[in-house]
Amino acid sequence: MSKKTLRLKIDELKTSLGDIKNFELSIGKIIEEAWEEEFGPTPFPSTSDLRSWDLKLIEKYKPFYMPFCDVCCLCTMGKCDLTKDKRGACGLNMAAQQSRIVLLACCIGAATHTAHARHLVEHLIEKYGRKFLIDVGGVSVEVEAPIIRLVCGIRPKTLEDLEDVLDYVEKEIVQLLSATHTGQEGSFIDFESKIFHAGMLDHVAMEAADIAQISAYGFPKADPEAPLIEIGFGVVDKSKPTILVIGHNVPSAISIVDYLEDNGLRDKVEVCGICCTAHDLSRYDSKAKIIGPISWQLRFIRSGIPDVIVVDEQCIRADALIEAQKIKAPLIATSEKNCLGLLDKTADQPAEVIKDLVDGKIPGALILDNDKIGEIAVKTALLTASNRVKFKSIPDVQGVIEEAKKCRKCNECSRACPNNLPIPKAIEEASKGGLKDLAELLDLCIGCGRCESACPGNLPIHSFMVVAAEKKLKEEKFKVRAGRGAIQDIEIRQVGSPIVLGEIPGVIAFVGCANYPKSGREVAEMAEEFAKRNYIIVSSGCAAMSMAMYKNEEGKTIYEMYPGVFDAGGISNVGSCVSNSHIAGAAIKIASIFARRKLRGNYEEIADYILNRVGAVGVGWGAMSQKAASIASGFWRLGIPVIVGPHGFKYRRMLLGRKERKEDWYVYDARSGEKVYVGPAPEHLFYSAENKEEAMVMIPKLCMRPNDTTKGRAIKLTNYIDLHKKIYGTLPDDIYMFIRTVADIPITMKDEVLKFLKEKEWEENIIPDPTLLPRLIRKRRE
Ligand code: SF4
Ligand code: SF4
Ligand code: SF4
Repeated sequence: MSKKTLRLKIDELKTSLGDIKNFELSIGKIIEEAWEEEFGPTPFPSTSDLRSWDLKLIEKYKPFYMPFCDVCCLCTMGKCDLTKDKRGACGLNMAAQQSRIVLLACCIGAATHTAHARHLVEHLIEKYGRKFLIDVGGVSVEVEAPIIRLVCGIRPKTLEDLEDVLDYVEKEIVQLLSATHTGQEGSFIDFESKIFHAGMLDHVAMEAADIAQISAYGFPKADPEAPLIEIGFGVVDKSKPTILVIGHNVPSAISIVDYLEDNGLRDKVEVCGICCTAHDLSRYDSKAKIIGPISWQLRFIRSGIPDVIVVDEQCIRADALIEAQKIKAPLIATSEKNCLGLLDKTADQPAEVIKDLVDGKIPGALILDNDKIGEIAVKTALLTASNRVKFKSIPDVQGVIEEAKKCRKCNECSRACPNNLPIPKAIEEASKGGLKDLAELLDLCIGCGRCESACPGNLPIHSFMVVAAEKKLKEEKFKVRAGRGAIQDIEIRQVGSPIVLGEIPGVIAFVGCANYPKSGREVAEMAEEFAKRNYIIVSSGCAAMSMAMYKNEEGKTIYEMYPGVFDAGGISNVGSCVSNSHIAGAAIKIASIFARRKLRGNYEEIADYILNRVGAVGVGWGAMSQKAASIASGFWRLGIPVIVGPHGFKYRRMLLGRKERKEDWYVYDARSGEKVYVGPAPEHLFYSAENKEEAMVMIPKLCMRPNDTTKGRAIKLTNYIDLHKKIYGTLPDDIYMFIRTVADIPITMKDEVLKFLKEKEWEENIIPDPTLLPRLIRKRRE
């Protein structure tokens, strides 16, 4: 039974006990609700409630499957050969199997953020109480939880309300996961719909996590001027004991900083981080330092700089303990999701644990009590630092040269490398004393360590690169803007109209891990190019970090050059992975605040609005985890296309429009009910670009929307045509599909474009008030 079927809403009731006003009964619980907005049709949607919307999307954006593997081995009836339309023993075909695997990935991603959110909310309730008020931006943010309002139909006010939200999300994820069992769902269409559902749930969980931590920890609250934070390999003062935190869930890292502050030690110990815990710690404490994204783990640990390593959850190397032991740094695991085989020392006296760690009696400890983590990490770092003298696990330069001579030139390393880096050649150079090639490889290396595992001579190849690039690494110091959190309502009011009319050509979100070779640089270059073209740029997670690691001739990073506003030409960092919710939230808020569409449990209408009117695109430029899959799915269901980099084919399927099929690109004109051809805008929902250049042409194209005014479409076309000409030297051959009237044609390109349109026998179309939902038609045709 779905939650909404258990809800009883009472506006006014006179009883013998008194008058009741604005009460709701939901799963046996009484919620006082002062929100006057009426419920939309789908509060707390079940797995099938939004299916009809999903089918509309899937019809336009057909799944295109790219199987990695032709067999299914998921149950013991297999393995089953699914090639050439064959079906497995359970009757499943390849399309269903591929979409099932994607659903599994998205369930993993959504469950990960939900478990993260649950841990945070429980921890914060323990610390601050159930009635602690949610506040993500004071009076600047009245619509403080747009995704939760939209999906669940409730307006969370306290941490307690977020528990209800997470109850719903957890229940739904179990439903979705169960659909992947052998003999359950059998159609790829329904697996795809369930993938969208998983993505939507993921966004709900991310929002719950971030608004809880922003409120309780006092992170920047929708602040476009959040402080600039130091980032890079060289930012740590190595003369001080150093604690490295890795992961995504910040309470344990915060307990370390709090302990330092409470004991007057804040300036005596360095606390630095990798991945999203670093982002979130820098939102709490501007003295915290960010080393870099997820792929910086091996290089930084092996440098020997950390005296203690504290890990929480997600995106932590499974061999973190082994690497920590190599540099004789104790490791403290702090999440029950990632115990790393360590003894649980939570109940022990901190003094005993510290002694065991410092004496090397135990390599690390599992500590699940935040009140103890701070003390144990800090005291262990202070005592260990003096003993270890920054013990490295990398050789010196002479060591690299000598070791390189042992290379057998077998090329196994290069074959194992996901980026096919020319490692043997660089090692040969090193054996002759030249380390330049190795140093250059580090720029392209994602620090996965696969080359080392493959090497029959056990050569520490990644470490060789770190030694070769040591001088450059020590000088790596940059600035990143701390995560600002939500977008202010007033910012939405200011940009709502120009975005919807197309005069701000688009919102581009750079998200996920930029760990493809050169991808950090490429993301920074794309962000700058589009900021100069007056797009609104937002970033989050590791992509936000990678964008910071490049400077202009004046030595400034992109965050120092551009304002952190959500406005044309602004480049903002919303925060960690869970802060991605503010990007989807901004699109929802445009529909709600600017266009005054009802939000409450009104998912289809808002998604329809975004798909047809809000020119937003997500870009994920690296190889990614399951979380990235679920984040992307959440954007798709909302009508926001996502472009991924060359690693994108590993997602196994794309959602591609077929621009030449005219019948796919009709919408209703809400004014008349007529069906109107609007061209392929946006053309795809999920697209993999082979290189940066292709992405730079695809981004402006996917920002086009049926609702663009002629002025707005002309601006979007100017960017599309200009970039296409710059990169490929020609006019794009599909522009006739995006020009609805002569007024759409960019004025400076009029003659050239008109000539081309004539060749294509182009005809004018009307610009409708577009919708895919018949119920939004205001006047039916007679
Ligand atoms: S789940 Fe179906 S296709 Fe897969 S191994 Fe089992 S029977 Fe074969
Ligand atoms: S560590 Fe770097 S060089 Fe080695 S396999 Fe991974 S990406 Fe390639
Ligand atoms: S795998 Fe090892 S031995 Fe073989 S080429 Fe690479 S570095 Fe040399």
